[in-house]
Amino acid sequence: MAIATISSPGTPDGCPQQPGKGSVSGGRSTAAEPVPLQCVEDVYRRCRELGMRLSRQRRMVLDLLWADQRHLSARDIFEKLNDQGRNIGHTSVYQNLEALQSAGVIECLDRASGRLYGYRADLHSHLTCSQSGAIQDLDVTLPAELIEQIEALTGFTIESYTLHLCGRPQGL
Ligand SMILES: [Zn+2]
Repeated sequence: MAIATISSPGTPDGCPQQPGKGSVSGGRSTAAEPVPLQCVEDVYRRCRELGMRLSRQRRMVLDLLWADQRHLSARDIFEKLNDQGRNIGHTSVYQNLEALQSAGVIECLDRASGRLYGYRADLHSHLTCSQSGAIQDLDVTLPAELIEQIEALTGFTIESYTLHLCGRPQGL
């Protein structure tokens, strides 16, 4: 029986990442997929291509998201930057996050508790810890047979998917 292919990006801090990483999770089409952004310099380049101004504050926000690699609220980001001695206002953090997420260069998750932002803009899945609420990125590829079953059941051609998994650390 085929099982889903799962990989966790871990916490790479090198740039660029190793070849083979950064495949588009859950995407089935092979044409016109944007190349996943591999490092913060790729995001700078994408922003310039989109005609976005890369202000000092905007770079601070992007650098923090890529260094931290977690899903953070605007307040988390504001507090972390100010803890690092960066001089940036809450409004500026919020406005830059909104501009970056509408340009599709960062991730935005809408949660009951508010919006969370992440460094990865490519399609990926999530695992939420039911104990701590921490959210981990995962790359999950479902077996082709399962997709075909879903297509037969729904009459839809599945073009993309993300999974949201919930669990607790084993042994707890
Ligand atoms: Zn994510």
